[in-house]
Amino acid sequence: MKLFLKKYLKLKLKIQYYDYLYYTLNSSIISDYKYDQLCMMLKKLEKENKFEKKLKYTNYNFKKNNFSYLPEIEHKTPMLSLLSGSSIKDFLKYDKMLKKRFFIFNDIEYFCDLKIDGLAISLIYHNGILSHAVTRGNGYSGENVTINIMTISNIPIVLSSPEIPKILDVRGEIYIKKKDFLLLNKISSLHKKKNFSNPRNIASGSLRQKDPEIARKRKLQFIAYSCNFFNSSLNLEKHDKNLFLLKKWGFSICKIFSICKTIHDVIQFYQMVTKIRLDLNYEIDGIVIKVNSKILQKKIGYVEKAPKWAYALKFFSHSVETKVIGIHFSIGRTGLITPIAFLKPVFISGVLIKKVTLYNKKKILELKLHIGDIVKIYRAGDVIPKIEKVLLKKRSITVQKIIFPYYCNICHTKIVYLEQEGLMYCPAGFFCQAQNEKRLLHFVSKNGLYMPGLGLKIIKKLLKKGCVKTPDDFYKLNIQSFEKISGIGIILTKKILNSINSSKIVMLNKFIYALGIFLVGKVVSKNLANFFGSVRNFLNSNYTILCQIEGIGHNIATSIILFLKSKENLKIIYFLKKKLCISSFFSNSFYMKDFSKIWIYQKKFVLSGKFLTMSKEKICTIIEKYGGIVKSYISKNINFLIIGLKYGQKFKQAKSLKITILSEKEFFNNLLKKNVI
Ligand SMILES: [Zn+2]
Repeated sequence: MKLFLKKYLKLKLKIQYYDYLYYTLNSSIISDYKYDQLCMMLKKLEKENKFEKKLKYTNYNFKKNNFSYLPEIEHKTPMLSLLSGSSIKDFLKYDKMLKKRFFIFNDIEYFCDLKIDGLAISLIYHNGILSHAVTRGNGYSGENVTINIMTISNIPIVLSSPEIPKILDVRGEIYIKKKDFLLLNKISSLHKKKNFSNPRNIASGSLRQKDPEIARKRKLQFIAYSCNFFNSSLNLEKHDKNLFLLKKWGFSICKIFSICKTIHDVIQFYQMVTKIRLDLNYEIDGIVIKVNSKILQKKIGYVEKAPKWAYALKFFSHSVETKVIGIHFSIGRTGLITPIAFLKPVFISGVLIKKVTLYNKKKILELKLHIGDIVKIYRAGDVIPKIEKVLLKKRSITVQKIIFPYYCNICHTKIVYLEQEGLMYCPAGFFCQAQNEKRLLHFVSKNGLYMPGLGLKIIKKLLKKGCVKTPDDFYKLNIQSFEKISGIGIILTKKILNSINSSKIVMLNKFIYALGIFLVGKVVSKNLANFFGSVRNFLNSNYTILCQIEGIGHNIATSIILFLKSKENLKIIYFLKKKLCISSFFSNSFYMKDFSKIWIYQKKFVLSGKFLTMSKEKICTIIEKYGGIVKSYISKNINFLIIGLKYGQKFKQAKSLKITILSEKEFFNNLLKKNVI
């Protein structure tokens, strides 16, 4: 039976692939006769075995118009970047930090393998069949590149083993071999086309192609480096066991790896790799060191954008000497102050470097940097320039000590120092002009309140005319406010006002994120929304409560409390709370455990029309999450009809049956209340 299933799926995918070529790309690589034969074979197989219905998920539907090109898909678990360093010293510091922070008294067992220079990808298998492939994207969602992924010969499309989890998420790297890279560039030179600058660009470029034949010709390779199981009884305690399982299931894994019992083993592995690096047939830019124990990984957890239990130790790129001629303290959107060193301009691998970031106060103290010092500069991962070290022997007597600011040089608010992290920030929020512009832009951004059409240019103009100072001012704008601004006509004005108007329905996590509180990013905002469930609960929180929330420690809690302490900030939040419809539908909200108290519970709903806040499917999910029931037809048993734009006949039917009709806004306004209206 299994062999049979495999044969069937392969055939089906083949036909769908030809369909895609034919219907979407208007090209055909087999004769009509052969195509018809394949179709007949498929039909015969289907007739013999009535499992067609079970296999719905393999329908890629390549037919014209149905095929949506590269839509975004959310990752099952975020695909995060790695903490990294470029010297053994950096790694030793990391190891020490882990041991100290998590009270680990013995050596940590690390799993080390190569950091291949490619494109990270997530392959999702449902019941052992490749369902989709997604790029890393922003870490939370990426592009759907399934079609092109299917052209990569060493990615199995069907897995056959009794232990395959119901849902399997395989993470790995798409890369190209050095010789294929050189060959491709030779061919592009022959065709007088631009050369590819590095193998990673080829991988990402190929996966974005509309024509999968291009990806096929580029001979991409896949190497798996981790996996997640869902709905599975498999529970392996070590990372290496997971990888070996992947190998057993047919995935390629890195052949060069080491299970290191001590940090000396890690150093040895790193030194060995630096020696063989040039002889490998693919590009690498370092090694990846992972805590091998899954239990320990869980205990160590994540920082905002990276797993804390993994570390990328990158190779050094060559460095040059230059002089530091000045220091500037730049204020970012959240008030974070970043010291930047201005340099006597130098070239590193063809790029002119004039300044480098010094990250924070701690870094400056570590480097023992003075203005006028001669420093060694290198480009980490060949991208961001960094100061490697200060050449103390070359220090002249005229160097000046760096003086750290006590007050914000723009708004004169006292700067907050987080001594342990060496971070400093201006806590004035919307009242610091240096932050204002970027904060307002952040507020209206896609992950915030989302007001398309309102860009930096317009915000700058509104600020200049004094129409907008803080985010609440957006909701006070009218046609007259735009009349005094040059370059904004009536059509654009209406578009912007419309955009502002439709931003009024917003999810709580996006609202919190939009406030731009220092250290409160997307993940923390989600956790906060999840925990508090409403703006009111969030405002009533205190330091102790905040520290109980996942991912929130002393610094984040302090930053939130400082933000909420400011009367000006509170005034803005209260105004917005009144003006906006802020909803939260997280099922495990701390305050909303008992759904039976919510009006939605056990009520029957019908939806009609087009919805602005979110898709119909998502609204249905919310209703079902709170114990409501969604039906597709109006009958006398229905309790509520929710209508969007362009609703249909159902409105009339509901009216005649005296069913309560709710607009989209009414529904969201009352979402978490005990009784509706
Ligand atoms: Zn300031």
